[in-house]
Amino acid sequence: MEILNYINNEWIKPNVQEYASVINPATGEVIVKTPLCGRTDVNMAANAASEAFPAWRRVPVQDRVQYLFTLRDLLKANHDEIAKLITNECGKTFEESKAEMVRAIENVEVACGMPHLGKGEFVEDIAPGIDETMIRQPLGVCATIAPFNFPGMIPFWFLPYALAAGNTYIVKPSEKVPMTMQFIFKLIEQVGFPKGVVNMVNGAKEAVDGILEHPAIRAITFVGSTNTAKYIYATAAAHGKRVQAQGGAKNPVIVLPDADMDMATRIIADSAFGCAGQRCLAVSFAVTVAEARNTFTEAICDAASTRVVGYGLDAGVQMGPVINAASKSRIESLIGLGVQEGAGIPVDGRGISIKGYEGGSFVRPTILADVPRGSEIAKTEIFGPVLSLMHVETVDEAIELVNSGQYGNQASLFTSSGSAARKFRYEAEAGNIGINIGVAAPMAFFPFSGWKESFFGDMHGQGMDAVEFFTQKKVVVERWPKEWSRKF
Ligand code: NAD
Repeated sequence: MEILNYINNEWIKPNVQEYASVINPATGEVIVKTPLCGRTDVNMAANAASEAFPAWRRVPVQDRVQYLFTLRDLLKANHDEIAKLITNECGKTFEESKAEMVRAIENVEVACGMPHLGKGEFVEDIAPGIDETMIRQPLGVCATIAPFNFPGMIPFWFLPYALAAGNTYIVKPSEKVPMTMQFIFKLIEQVGFPKGVVNMVNGAKEAVDGILEHPAIRAITFVGSTNTAKYIYATAAAHGKRVQAQGGAKNPVIVLPDADMDMATRIIADSAFGCAGQRCLAVSFAVTVAEARNTFTEAICDAASTRVVGYGLDAGVQMGPVINAASKSRIESLIGLGVQEGAGIPVDGRGISIKGYEGGSFVRPTILADVPRGSEIAKTEIFGPVLSLMHVETVDEAIELVNSGQYGNQASLFTSSGSAARKFRYEAEAGNIGINIGVAAPMAFFPFSGWKESFFGDMHGQGMDAVEFFTQKKVVVERWPKEWSRKF
């Protein structure tokens, strides 16, 4: 496979000198190379999308969504093929890759409701003979800058809504995982959108800067790490664009003594170690309250040390590798930092290799115990299969600890107490809340609602937030002869 751009319904080999090597993280082998495109290619895509916009916005919405119905069918028909590509370039297991695409497809389905979702408002006789209307109109050219960890799903938090609302689009996949989107764009090609409506440009920082600065691009969505999110938010805003930027996370879970410990352990282990911990909703630290400490610690250590780690397409594998060798060594040194800062390490996943996959970037599930409050390891996003344990005596202390963090992507509680659950739901400072849930990922018809340093912007991805984000409101006040509204 050669990674190309898709612009104006054509596959284009960019004229670049620099490429990023894409490796299969389970084997360490280079599988393709991503062309690191710059402003020339972004300009080409933005021009194509600009030219396509006037005609596309005039296509009736019920006709625009027909393209999405076809895309949905093609995504379903190619579900396994896409999932294999995700596993091979991103490392997660085949089941995890399939689950990722379920959410992508669900977003296409929700966006197919645009004839209803995008309706305006109308009030007649705000004064005799005067009526007021609110219409939603598309913005123009919009773009998504995507991270590596959900190569198939994340662009679908945005793209289907933008297209259904009448915008044209550019996707910039992560340079670490370009194959999945390239395959999905082959499906987009089969759908037969009019020329220039959907485009893809590959690359890294230079392509991103081209998108941030291009005058024709009206709105940008970004998903990735917090530092980049801050840069994207500030730079896009300085260029007068509508922007939403989802950032990193450090997601807490509180375990109360009245929780169903078997269920809590199973679900928290799946959250912390699923996708090798490279999920923005992965639980990364657990706060046990009072006597939950001993039972939970013992059970979670057992779950961590028995998890089957390997190549995600092999049968029985429960956890794949992390994205690359640099990430493995970063995760391992952060574990080392935690130990230096005083944490215990009852389960140590460093320094392993998997038979038959010696070139892979594997880190086994790791538990850091008694992590000191305020330490670097308690604050830093590790983005790997590492669960930190902390302990307090009361629910109030636990909620205070949860709320002291800089991030606010997700917070979870395991309990059988309705009052504790309600208090937590009310007070926890995070946009996605789980009660006896380890990955509180919103369905496509709800917003993906990160808070604090996990999100910069106003409207989120998915559902009605995406409809709002990709449309601008126009209010029309009309005066007609007063007699027309009089009672005859
Ligand atoms: P990243 O920030 O390194 O990269 C994301 C995108 O930004 C890529 O397309 C990359 O090419 C581009 N980019 C990277 N550095 C840049 C720079 N200096 N200037 C301009 N563009 C740049 O993130 P990643 O490593 O691909 O993804 C992992 C991160 O994403 C984690 O922090 C994770 O928590 C976060 N994430 C958040 C959510 C969420 O919903 N909040 C979802 C998924 C992932």
